[in-house]
Amino acid sequence: LLSCTPYSTNLSSRHSSSNILQSPPSVSTTFSLRSLVLDGYFEFDDLSYAAKDFGGRYHFLPSAVLHPKSVADVSATIKHVFELGTFSELTVAARGRGHSLQGQAQAHKGVVIQMESIKSHKMRVHSGKNPSVDVPGGELWINILYETLKHGLAPKSWTDYLHLTIGGTLSNGGISGQAFLHGPQIDNVQELEVVTGKGDIVTCSEKQNGDLFYGVLGGLGQYGIITRARISLGPSAERVKWIKMLYHEFSTFSMDQERLMFSKETFDYMEGFVIINRTGLLNNWRSSFGPKDPVRASQFSSDGKILYCLELAKYFNPNEYDIVEQGIEKSLSELNFIPSTLFQSEVSLVEFLDRVHISEMKLKEKGLWDVPHPWLNLLVPKSQISHFAEQVFGNIIADNNGAILIYPVNQSKWNNKTSLVTPDENVFYLVAFLSSAIPSASGNERLEQILAQNQKVLDFCSSMTTGCKQYLPHYSTQEDWQSHFGPKWEIVTRRKLEYDPLAILAPGQRIFQKSS
Ligand code: FAD
Repeated sequence: LLSCTPYSTNLSSRHSSSNILQSPPSVSTTFSLRSLVLDGYFEFDDLSYAAKDFGGRYHFLPSAVLHPKSVADVSATIKHVFELGTFSELTVAARGRGHSLQGQAQAHKGVVIQMESIKSHKMRVHSGKNPSVDVPGGELWINILYETLKHGLAPKSWTDYLHLTIGGTLSNGGISGQAFLHGPQIDNVQELEVVTGKGDIVTCSEKQNGDLFYGVLGGLGQYGIITRARISLGPSAERVKWIKMLYHEFSTFSMDQERLMFSKETFDYMEGFVIINRTGLLNNWRSSFGPKDPVRASQFSSDGKILYCLELAKYFNPNEYDIVEQGIEKSLSELNFIPSTLFQSEVSLVEFLDRVHISEMKLKEKGLWDVPHPWLNLLVPKSQISHFAEQVFGNIIADNNGAILIYPVNQSKWNNKTSLVTPDENVFYLVAFLSSAIPSASGNERLEQILAQNQKVLDFCSSMTTGCKQYLPHYSTQEDWQSHFGPKWEIVTRRKLEYDPLAILAPGQRIFQKSS
C-alpha cells in the first residue's frame, strides 16, 4: 500500500503572498542524522538559506542540510530516512540553486541536500558519433557550456538562464528558444544516475531501467535524485546573429512564428515577447542592437499599444558568414513584421546563451534581484492561443511587471515518454509571465496585485475548452494535481509507490505527503 497520501491544503494557500512555516528541528531527528558516517557533512544551524528560493514567498525551515561529497552520502542519508519509516517525519529535498518559485526545493523539518557539493563525479566529454557529456546533478549549465566548448561541442537545448542546475531543470523540463527544434532539455539526455526514495543508486537510460529514466525526466523530483546525467551534444558555433522585430497584430506575429517553426532553413533559436504599454522601446534596444533602417526606426513610436516582439538567433562560424547572411535575408523577407523595427546584433555564443546573467548582475546592483517573483508559466494549445492572447493581453494584463514570453513548439519533435505534462495538441505555446514584485512603501500591495492577476489568467484558462497546462506547476489540492496529470496520474502514483513508497522525496512539490 502506498504509505504516502496526496497533499492537502494546509501548507499552502492560493492567494497568500507569503507562506512562512518555521519551527526548530526536533532533537531526536538531528541526533539520528548525526550518527551517519559520511564523506561530506550535515549542517544543523543557521539553515535559513535553505528555506529561501527565487520565488521569495515560501520559507520552510529544514532540520538539517546535507553537504554531500559523494553519491554514497546521498544514498546513505535517504536509506537512513527510509529505514526510520513512518516513525519519523523526515523528508528529503534535493536543492540545486533554489531557483524554484514556491518552495519546491525546500523540506519542512526535513533534510535539504545541497547538490552542488558533490565532487565525486567530474565533467567528462565523450566525442564521436553521438557526442555527450557526463555531468554531476548539481552542476550549473553555464559550466557545462564552458567545458564542452573546449571540445568544439555544446548542448543543443537550453534554458534562458544558465545558472541553474542539471538536476533542477531536468526535474522540470528545461524549455527555451531551441525547444521547437531539439525538444526541451529532458529530451536531450542519454543516461542518468539516480538515487531513489529507498536509497538505491540506479543507472538508467531508454534501454536500461527505462521506466525510472522517463519517470525522473520532468518528474518534479518525485522518484529519485539525479546525481549524474549524460547530456547529448552537437557541434558548437562561435558567433550568433541575434535579431529582434516588432508586430502590431498577434495573428501576424504567431503566423510568422509558426512559419519559422516548420521551415526547413530555420533559425537556431526562436522566442517572442509581449510588450504592453511601454514607451521608448526601440531606444532601449539601441544600447546593444543596431536598427536595419536607422531613419525609419527613429520615427517609430510604440506609445500605449500592445506590441509583439519576435526574437531570433542564428549560430554560425566566421567562415560561413556570407552564406548565413544570405539565408537570414531570405527568411526575413518572408516575414510580415513592421519594417522599421528590424534590429540586429552579432555576439559570441557564450554572450548570447548567458544573456540573462548580464541582467541578473545589473538587477543585483540595484537590489532588484532578490525580490518576490510571482511567475506564472503556461503551455497553451494552438487552437486556443488567439482567444487567449485577445483576452489575457487585451483585458487581464494591464502592464508588464516583467517579461512576458510567448513562443510555439512542435510537440511531434518531443519525446512523449517523459513525465512532463503538456497540452493535448501537436503545437502549443509557452506563455511565461515573469513578474517581479518590487517592494514599495505600501508593503506587499504589488505582489498581491500580481497574484490576483495570475489567478485571473488561471481562471480564464480553466474556462477554455481545450486545456492549458501549467509549466513549473504549483497546486494545493489533490484534485488539482490529478487534473494536471490527467491520464498520467495513474502512472505517477504507480511510480511513486515503486521508487519512493514512503513519499520521502521533493516534499516541497506538495503532490504526496509522507504518512506518519
Ligand atoms: P531547484 O529550484 O533547486 O530545484 C527544483 C526542483 O527540482 C525541486 O523540487 C528540487 O527538489 C528538485 N531537484 C533539484 N535538484 C535535483 C536533482 N539533482 N535531482 C532530482 N531533483 C532535483 N526554466 C525553463 O525551463 N526555461 C527557462 O528558460 C528558464 N529560465 C529561468 C530563468 C531564471 C532567471 C530562473 C530563476 C529560472 C528559470 N527557469 C527556467 C526555471 C528553472 O528551470 C527552475 O527554477 C528549476 O527549478 C531550476 O532551478 P534550480 O537548479 O535552482 O533547481
